[in-house]
Amino acid sequence: MRKIVLVPCQFEPKSLMPSLRKRLEELLQIPVHIENMYCQPELFFDAQRSQYNALQILQSLPEIESQKTLICTAVDLYIPIFTFVFGLARLNGCRGIISSHRLSPRYYGLPNDAEILLKRLIKEAVHELGHLAGLKHCRQFDCVMANSATADEVDIKSEFFCPECHSRFLRHFNT
Ligand SMILES: [Zn+2]
Ligand SMILES: [Zn+2]
Repeated sequence: MRKIVLVPCQFEPKSLMPSLRKRLEELLQIPVHIENMYCQPELFFDAQRSQYNALQILQSLPEIESQKTLICTAVDLYIPIFTFVFGLARLNGCRGIISSHRLSPRYYGLPNDAEILLKRLIKEAVHELGHLAGLKHCRQFDCVMANSATADEVDIKSEFFCPECHSRFLRHFNT
């Protein structure tokens, strides 16, 4: 069975990493580790947009086929065709990234709420790991593989795969 490795990279708040790791392991039933890896998002900063190129950050990381590596960051991510992304991962790839930047209530002028932020981070992490397992976006509104363009849409979906996505996910990790 493959393992999942979370890599904090300019991630805030750091105190959420252990809870994120534990919940992912419970949900996915796959060993989840936190490891450090050389990662420099500042190399991929676009001064005009004041954002970081998510695709270039991913491409700068080593490809380790035996594990799924998920970068966890607090920098604001984009890819050229979108104004921003909560996260990014290639279908069937081994590297993904999520950002807490626009998942934090503070970004929307609301008070800090670690519980809400953690819930959203868990959903985005499961979602990107789903893409790494070859899953596309799902039409079930409450499936974690539903596409979310806003933080409100992240709140609407659950942290779980629908039965069909779940069986595909298991098939990927058990082969
Ligand atoms: Zn997606
Ligand atoms: Zn689904």
